Amino acid sequence: MLKNTIYNCAGSMYYGDKKGFEVNTMTNTMMNKEKTVYMDNAATTKVMDEVMDNIIPLYRKDFGNPSSIHKIGRNAKSCLENARREIAACLNVRNSTINFTSGGTESDNWAVKSAARLMKAEGKSHIITTDIEHPAILKSLSTLEKEGFSVTYLNCDDGVLSPKLFEAALREDTGFATVMYANNEIGTVQPIAELAEICRCRGIIFHTDAVQAVGHIPVDLESLGADLLSFSGHKFYAPKGAGGLYIREGLDFPRFIDGGEQEHRHRGGTENLPGIAGLAAALKLCCGNMTEEIGRITDLRNRLTAGLLNIKGSRLNGSAEKRLPGNVNVSFDGIEGESLLIMLDMRGICASSGSACSSGSLDASHVLTAIGLPTEMAKGSLRLTLGRYNTAQEVDYTVEAVTDIVGKLREMRM
Ligand code: PLP
Repeated sequence: MLKNTIYNCAGSMYYGDKKGFEVNTMTNTMMNKEKTVYMDNAATTKVMDEVMDNIIPLYRKDFGNPSSIHKIGRNAKSCLENARREIAACLNVRNSTINFTSGGTESDNWAVKSAARLMKAEGKSHIITTDIEHPAILKSLSTLEKEGFSVTYLNCDDGVLSPKLFEAALREDTGFATVMYANNEIGTVQPIAELAEICRCRGIIFHTDAVQAVGHIPVDLESLGADLLSFSGHKFYAPKGAGGLYIREGLDFPRFIDGGEQEHRHRGGTENLPGIAGLAAALKLCCGNMTEEIGRITDLRNRLTAGLLNIKGSRLNGSAEKRLPGNVNVSFDGIEGESLLIMLDMRGICASSGSACSSGSLDASHVLTAIGLPTEMAKGSLRLTLGRYNTAQEVDYTVEAVTDIVGKLREMRM
């Protein structure tokens, strides 16, 4: 039994201090004011304190523009190049291959749209991807389709793409392929090295959106063999608004953002130095104890998964084995994901569901429907993503809360 527990009128157990609760008069539900269990790390992460310490001087003292020639500008430039060096070391590539951007969305747009320009110059017009990519990829591809490119969207059985299926989809005119490293909703991890190898043999440009992978699992670009790779700092404890695109050495890749001569003329725009320095510091810290963190977070994930699968009418979405350490995505029969989220929020638990609000209606997640879930089941899904600040106590509290809420929601339907 947890030490500080109280019971509400319905007999449910809440963790925390009694004075930390209030009644939500709209729903007559106890609301935990003080306790916050953050289990939405795939959406974004808390900036690490050590990272904040690195960033603050860049606002207060070393605030220069890296393109300025005076002392403060030169300091900023050296800080920028240090960050590039540290990131390149973590990813095992040369410094010059790392290009900073405003985040994952820009990196993905750059990769897809500039690869299309290169293909076009070679007279190729076919692109391969999967049907579970992030909208930054899917919407960029949809723009290209309107311009005359043809795109094959491969299905991922259980969330994992088969290299054989990928190979079979290649055509004479295939010039580009983009497959995400790890899925943001169900956490499944793709066989990127194998896919990159297939492309390399045929002279096809290969990109991977590694926004959910970098900082969480080992990414060694030297052995991976991808031509292009996107990453984003806020997914691994750095500030929002800074990311990068790795461009393989020797690939003459067209720029995407026109403007000044920044980023070795690869991308115009004054660099977000605090964001970039934060990204480098965070990545270095993540890579420094990655093996231990993967072990710890995997244990928490297994505990959380086991607890949630004890609930009747539940199922795990996506492969249980080929999966990010921190991702749990489960569906519950007869449950509306949004109601579950709201009730979890009242107990201080921050999570995410398998539906997204688009044009005022709740659509089932394209990822869950692509892996075969019926719409209703997809709408009844819950994504919990663990990170370095989560504890076993939080996992137990969450399992208890979800079990209780699912039971109540089902009772209400009867
Ligand atoms: N790609 C994936 C797989 C993501 O999960 C995200 C963000 O959720 C993005 C791209 C976009 O990244 P950003 O938020 O840095 O623009």
